[in-house]
Amino acid sequence: MTAQPYAYRRQELVEPDWTRLPGWKAVTREQWESAQWQRVNCVKNVRQLRAVLGDLVDERFYTDLEDDQRRLATMSMLLPPQMINTMVPTGRFDTEAFYADPIRRYMLPVASDRHPVWPSHPYASRDSLHEHDMWVAEGLTHRYPTKVLAELLPTCPQYCGHCTRMDLVGNSTPAVDKLKLTLKPVDRYDAMIGYLKAQPGVRDVVVSGGDVANVPWRNLESFLMRLLDIGTIRDIRLATKALAGLPQHWLQPDVVEGLERVARTAARRGVNLAIHTHVNHVQSLTPLVAKAAQTALEVGVRDVRNQGVLLRGVNATSEDLLDLCFGLQGEAGILPYYFYMCDMIPNAEHWRVAVWQAQQLQHDIMGYLPGYATPRIVCDVPFVGKRWVHMVTEYDRERGISYWTKNYRTSIEGDDLDRRYAFHDPIDTLPEAGQRWWERELATV
Ligand code: SF4
Repeated sequence: MTAQPYAYRRQELVEPDWTRLPGWKAVTREQWESAQWQRVNCVKNVRQLRAVLGDLVDERFYTDLEDDQRRLATMSMLLPPQMINTMVPTGRFDTEAFYADPIRRYMLPVASDRHPVWPSHPYASRDSLHEHDMWVAEGLTHRYPTKVLAELLPTCPQYCGHCTRMDLVGNSTPAVDKLKLTLKPVDRYDAMIGYLKAQPGVRDVVVSGGDVANVPWRNLESFLMRLLDIGTIRDIRLATKALAGLPQHWLQPDVVEGLERVARTAARRGVNLAIHTHVNHVQSLTPLVAKAAQTALEVGVRDVRNQGVLLRGVNATSEDLLDLCFGLQGEAGILPYYFYMCDMIPNAEHWRVAVWQAQQLQHDIMGYLPGYATPRIVCDVPFVGKRWVHMVTEYDRERGISYWTKNYRTSIEGDDLDRRYAFHDPIDTLPEAGQRWWERELATV
């Protein structure tokens, strides 16, 4: 057969050797596999990063990182050792390799990563999807007719630089003062359950945050059992990047036993219980991640699916996407489900891709994976929701403005279903004429 644009070869998963990093030279396997050890040893600041990496990385990087933290970061730093260990997993660990690493690029952004002229799109905003505007109870977003998003808490075991919920999730940074939840968790959960009991048209609940791995298990189990008592709820999806970022959490005996109780109850009641995780690059897949996914399936969770984010410099090539999807599907027992285009949040332009690039990537990954495991690349259009990238109704390529329609109403709109909603490509990806147009537009504001 003649050469193909993508050549598949099975790659079995390997846990990178954490003792290659100076700060973890003496860390035992028992420590490494303990969720508590991972949480206690998370890296939250430059000093702690230095203690782990020592002089593998030179001063230039740390200064660049501090600069980003001071001026540009929308998320505070929080990295479990598991995640750091997937950066530069093989080969020489030095400053250049660290700068170039795909996991580093989105989990530990530095000032020189950001676009020097257009760090933010002029239409970028905090809460770009208007989830907060659609709250029907604190943390409960009712955007689609039959589905809701329940944000149980505003924290995660790891913070991603491109987090779309940067408005709410994580600690405040010098650039972003975060929105605060005001109700006590118990009152917030009561209000959510009360709303869902009164809305028989809602059948699907994404239980999220933040990350459900940060909800004490007893509280999460009680919330899930209350959801399962509502006969009209037929799908429950648990959102947790920790499955990949801190798989040790999902392997703790009390969590596994609790998950089994919830899965058994869901199966008895005919409810589809799934875990949705967030992996952006094949390097994140290690044997421990596969074990966590496999364990969830063994105790009765119906499916573990991946919702990655399409990010320039991280995974926005067909080869990176296919490597990741084959790793998920063939090695980790995780279904490649979606790739979202990165949302229009502040300081994210260097990560975002244009709609036409996403369409090209969708085209290029077709036909290699089983059809049911071929992910859809979607654009989450403000006020609309997820649209496959080929569903654009009109597209001004010069100015990078795409227009989208929808087929349902949300709680914050009137009757008009004919309206078109705009989404914007990163300005640096536009032809010269389009870039000049935006410059003139902004000069007149
Ligand atoms: S895990 Fe999800 S919610 Fe948490 S910081 Fe990352 S993208 Fe945001």
